Amino acid sequence: MTEQDFFEEGALVAVQTTQPLDRALDYTAPEGGCFRGAFVEVPLGPRKVPGVVWGPGRGDFDRAKIRAVSRVLDVAPMRREMAAFLERAGEYTLTPLSAMLRLAMRAPGLSDPPSMRKVFRLGEGAPDRQTEARTRVLDVLKDYGGLAFTLKELSEMAGVTSSVVKGLAKQGVVREEDTPRDMPFARLDPEYAKRALTEDQAVAAEALRAGIEAGRYGTTLLRGVTGSGKTEVYLEAVADTLRKGRQALVLLPEIALTAEFLTRVEARFGVKPAEWHSGVTMTERRRIWKMVGQGGAELVIGARSALFLPFRDLGLIVVDEEHDTSYKQEDGVLYNARDMAVLRASICEAQVVLASATPSLESWANAQAGKYQRLELTSRFGEAVLPEMRAIDMRGEEVPRGRWVSPTLQREVSARIEKGEQSLLFINRRGYAPVTICRACGEKINCDQCDATMVEHRFLKRLVCHQCGETKPIPEACPACGKEGTLAPVGPGVERLAEEAAALWPEARLAVLSSDLFASARALKEGINAIAEGGADIIIGTQLVAKGHNFPLLTLVGVIDSDLGLQGSDLRAAERTFQLMRQVAGRAGRSERKGLALLQTFQPEHPVIRSILAGDEEGFWSAEARERQAAGVPPYGRMAGIILSSPDVQQVFDLGNALARQDGPLRAVGAQVYGPAPAPIARIRGRHRVRLLVKADKGVRLQPALAEWVGQFRLKGDIRLAVDIDPQSFY
Ligand code: ADP
Ligand code: ZN
Repeated sequence: MTEQDFFEEGALVAVQTTQPLDRALDYTAPEGGCFRGAFVEVPLGPRKVPGVVWGPGRGDFDRAKIRAVSRVLDVAPMRREMAAFLERAGEYTLTPLSAMLRLAMRAPGLSDPPSMRKVFRLGEGAPDRQTEARTRVLDVLKDYGGLAFTLKELSEMAGVTSSVVKGLAKQGVVREEDTPRDMPFARLDPEYAKRALTEDQAVAAEALRAGIEAGRYGTTLLRGVTGSGKTEVYLEAVADTLRKGRQALVLLPEIALTAEFLTRVEARFGVKPAEWHSGVTMTERRRIWKMVGQGGAELVIGARSALFLPFRDLGLIVVDEEHDTSYKQEDGVLYNARDMAVLRASICEAQVVLASATPSLESWANAQAGKYQRLELTSRFGEAVLPEMRAIDMRGEEVPRGRWVSPTLQREVSARIEKGEQSLLFINRRGYAPVTICRACGEKINCDQCDATMVEHRFLKRLVCHQCGETKPIPEACPACGKEGTLAPVGPGVERLAEEAAALWPEARLAVLSSDLFASARALKEGINAIAEGGADIIIGTQLVAKGHNFPLLTLVGVIDSDLGLQGSDLRAAERTFQLMRQVAGRAGRSERKGLALLQTFQPEHPVIRSILAGDEEGFWSAEARERQAAGVPPYGRMAGIILSSPDVQQVFDLGNALARQDGPLRAVGAQVYGPAPAPIARIRGRHRVRLLVKADKGVRLQPALAEWVGQFRLKGDIRLAVDIDPQSFY
């Protein structure tokens, strides 16, 4: 060991805190000394703040003023690889280390003393007096071998009052012990319910095994149509990882998918794994945080923030549905969980599996370039075949005003209802109508805080801004001209489509699946289960249904507006539409029945629509790759978005112009800056937004140049600057 790992009492240490300071601060090691990586509490002004011992102190501070670390927290010290991960992730995303550290300490009560609880197990000898109640207690303990129980558990199981147990404990016949409240998770059994894999599944599992056996870094793109068994294959990789005694992490894009997945893990490994996301209780989060550090949790299923858990020996990270846009954090620290998974794995010698039916162009290009291994599952498991896909040319359909279901789609749905099969009507828009307009004066109802129209939600009986979440009641009179009863909805949302379906098929049972119609992830899960069991004839859904749910009776998917995603200037519009349409279509015909997907479109000859219909994925990617290469945009060039915002419009433009003028550090590396321009949504929550775009060649080390460039300016007043490396969307 070349660098110092333990600091004796009084030695100078650098402590990185979670406070927004631009450096680690010097302190002296407390009584008993401390390890590098120790989680500590240090005095900062009048307060005590949490931090981590990052290394030896810098010693550039008046020694007399240096204070001692207040105390060392009772958790496993941060491992070197975690510290390296936070540093590198921070450098990549241009995020201060203090903010990265906050991500890594997102568990409550880490500074609490270890909380203990009393448990009771079989002791020695016989009680002074044998009563029936006492015998029952001892019988329970004997039945369960060496197991220990809490007072409540034991007295309930024996059917006695707690005083009986306490009486036995006093005599030592029952032994009372203190154990930590944060208990390890039950061990998973990799051999519990092994499945026989199909031939191409077995080939893929074998290819993953090689990397896991070697215990080295590697990333694999596991591509296969929905239902081809990608999950089966990566669960085998999890099993191999557990056999090696290492830990595994599976990231899912959507909390609503977790419950279904946990059940599947339990069926495969015998017990449920740890579950980490915003819906998990605080106590459970603290338990997971501590247990992954001690090796008491072998498998974590989680949202993207699980990447920052202090795993003791992480050997595998699976990113399921790797193309999903929710992996990109869009507020706070701007990071893409897929890229961070690869970074973390490369530091801790782990394998990454990126699973998707429709990979991102980034991952596709990395596989093409040989950076990732690529594995393919070509057919669906069992009988299921991919649905047939057809366009409905809306130019030839007669659809009345205010209606969106074409006669062709209507006939197909009716035919399914007759056969007792399910149909899905897909529209990627929440609410009732995207725009509310006054028929008298033409005024659109906008959000007061944002440059966005308010979306009518009939279910909530309110207008909602999808940018800031602001809501207001639907006004009686037009706010502009004051006429009453003139406001009318324009365009369809999922609720309006449901209304149309109810009118078209009055006998049918409808189920609407949109995230804002469910109060909790649990309610949503119940809704999904009921549908899967046949509790609906027609499902009307938003993007939510595109993600992984399994509806065996579903044989028809009707996409109401396939052109929606193709509008707008977004770099990834084509890619998104392609992925979404393929994913949605993939919901049909997942069991023995054959599926059909119908895409309503006004531009059936559009190249993206054509490649979706032809199922020509390689062709689509190659064409898309060529276009992006020609334009020098990601993944063939580097990009960063800069968003400036302030309540004062002049202030944002002044700073934007100054940034554009003083672009020396960028020019030095051959990068160009574009803008400032008003952001596509020029005002959110009352803040005016201006963006600049930086483009550079692929090989350029952009981050240091960006840091130097932005570092020339001090942000005054209420102005904010956010740097988004590899922006996913331009909003
Ligand atoms: P994907 O993750 O690619 O969508 P899944 O792994 O979920 O596919 O597989 C689809 C369905 O087929 C699941 O119900 C799964 O249990 C089943 N399945 C896939 N492979 C096998 C196998 N080898 N043995 C038994 N069932 C399988
Ligand atoms: Zn708003």
